Amino acid sequence: MIEIFINGIIPLTTFGYIIYTLAVTHITIVAITLYLHRGVCHSAIDIHPLLSHFFRFWLWLTTSMRTADWVAIHRKHHAKVETEHDPHSPAFFGINKVLLQGADLYHMEKNNKETIEKYSQNCPTDWVEEKIYTGRNNLGILILFILNIILFGTVGIIIWSIQMMWTPIFAAGGINGAGHYWGYRNYNTNDDSTNMSPVGIIIGGEELHNNHHAYPTAAKFSLRPWEFDIGWMYIKVFGFLGLCKVKRLAPRPIIQNKQNTDSKLITQSILQSKLAVITDFTQKVLKPIYKKENFNLSFKLLADHPNRLSENQESKVKDLLAKNIKLSTVYSLKNKLHELLHSREIKHDNFIQILNKWSEEARSHGIEALDDFLVRLRSYKVT
Ligand SMILES: [Zn+2]
Ligand SMILES: [Zn+2]
Repeated sequence: MIEIFINGIIPLTTFGYIIYTLAVTHITIVAITLYLHRGVCHSAIDIHPLLSHFFRFWLWLTTSMRTADWVAIHRKHHAKVETEHDPHSPAFFGINKVLLQGADLYHMEKNNKETIEKYSQNCPTDWVEEKIYTGRNNLGILILFILNIILFGTVGIIIWSIQMMWTPIFAAGGINGAGHYWGYRNYNTNDDSTNMSPVGIIIGGEELHNNHHAYPTAAKFSLRPWEFDIGWMYIKVFGFLGLCKVKRLAPRPIIQNKQNTDSKLITQSILQSKLAVITDFTQKVLKPIYKKENFNLSFKLLADHPNRLSENQESKVKDLLAKNIKLSTVYSLKNKLHELLHSREIKHDNFIQILNKWSEEARSHGIEALDDFLVRLRSYKVT
């Protein structure tokens, strides 16, 4: 009897305990990325009720997180990214706080009723959600604690503690902290989001956070041929089993050999390709002019949007631009184009007039790389 209490009913080797812990924590990560994030929050995938009920139960059992809380806080993060209203921006709170106290920031925002009400549309409100997952939200982790002791004895307590720490460390601290601080960027998004690693396994593909901020409603996070998103692999497997359907993917802009003539098509293609358009301008217009001179300043500072620069960096950029009129002209055109493509005030029907005005200004400078860009700009097609 005492032996059963110490070792539980399934005594494993140390290796066995490690594999078990990695498996159960991985299932929690999969539930977060597939169900909470890509499914409910961004409606990028449709999950069969059988599977979504499993994910909801598993999250209750292993994390005590409510769907509505997680979804609302994350939607607010996208809406208010890198501002004082962003629930967990390293730019505002500092990287250490988001990394080490990410769970505290989550709990603070969870208690903000206005946030939860405003951002929790289409979250489950059925009986089991209200009575069990909300009404008894801590019962799940208590059951898990008892279950772990029955299964593995005293080692079960260690496994339970790791399970309790996994989400705050990897999801809250990792994605929200590191995913806005360390890594590479494929897209010049209006935030500090980064891809922490081209291979997304440990946090279910959420490592590719810059790709996600670029296309938040896309089901697949890997967008370059060398990137891997394990979450996407599971979506394909569940799709094959009839348990999941993909609703949206990131647009794939290509440049055709001919220009679009229909203004509606021009507007639609450019707006859907806006991140690729800015990258095109940065790499093929701005960079060659920068490279011709031997500037003693990182090109990254010119490639980034000015509101992402610190005061010191901004003054360095200003000093450089004062020395070169051509570079200054092209830099200013890039920023104007960025505003034009990201402005919430500009609607589809007046976009083309504003774009024509910008194009006229660009053409008036007689810069060859700019003229070539103007041709490409009207040749975008989204597949
Ligand atoms: Zn983010
Ligand atoms: Zn998101």
